[in-house]
Amino acid sequence: MQEYTDAHRYFLQSLMQRGVVDDKECRTVLEDSSEISGYDRSERTINSFVAVINKRIQPFHLEIRKGVNEDDGTDVYALISITDHDINRLTVGGYFLKFEIDIFRRIVDCIVTSDEGTMSSVDALNITEELPQKNITKSDVQCLISKLISHRWLGEREGVLFLSPRSVLELEPYLKDQHQDSLRHCGICKEMVFRGLRCVGCGVRIHGYCSVTYFRGMSDEDRKCPSCHAPMPLSDSAWSSNGSEDILKLSKTRKRRR
Ligand SMILES: [Zn+2]
Ligand SMILES: [Zn+2]
Repeated sequence: MQEYTDAHRYFLQSLMQRGVVDDKECRTVLEDSSEISGYDRSERTINSFVAVINKRIQPFHLEIRKGVNEDDGTDVYALISITDHDINRLTVGGYFLKFEIDIFRRIVDCIVTSDEGTMSSVDALNITEELPQKNITKSDVQCLISKLISHRWLGEREGVLFLSPRSVLELEPYLKDQHQDSLRHCGICKEMVFRGLRCVGCGVRIHGYCSVTYFRGMSDEDRKCPSCHAPMPLSDSAWSSNGSEDILKLSKTRKRRR
């Protein structure tokens, strides 16, 4: 096992400030930390580097966990609390007021139980009507949503909200505990999937990025649903996609170029 050095300390501090780093940011932070401390990371992998930090922070019930960005399949690393399965006491609690966590929980519940794995911002604003507190306005909720997006707990595209990789990592125990029946798993990699592509035939979902790899090089006749084996030609509308349009486009472009 490597020693815990200033490079590890720097990486941990950066993650504590940001909560989550994507693949590119992770490399930048690693480079900065090596530069600052003179740490030679040429023969180290990110995994072994993170393992050293995790050993150090384990007594504090914290862990750096690797997840995947559902939009493009790239890695993300988030600092998460491993003590509590109660959404009210997650690390999110350190930065948000109690009524804000209550609203966040309602948004998460709606997203997870929806067919699309998303929630419209307009519907999220209407949560005020369900709240026991009558003094919370839509503009309070709008501010909270902006805050959740900037802290990367939620993603937003064209007025549609979805769970960020940070939320998926941190809330996994909560989701499994409270929404076991609503959770879907990718027909290819078997990991949780919230949006992705959906087979209109059997309803199975797959990550957009898994589909790109899985169907690579296949002709239209060979493209079949991994679950029900229904034909899935690219040109067909047999796949419906939620928030993974870019991936679908990417996969079409790659195919055309071949
Ligand atoms: Zn997958
Ligand atoms: Zn199918």
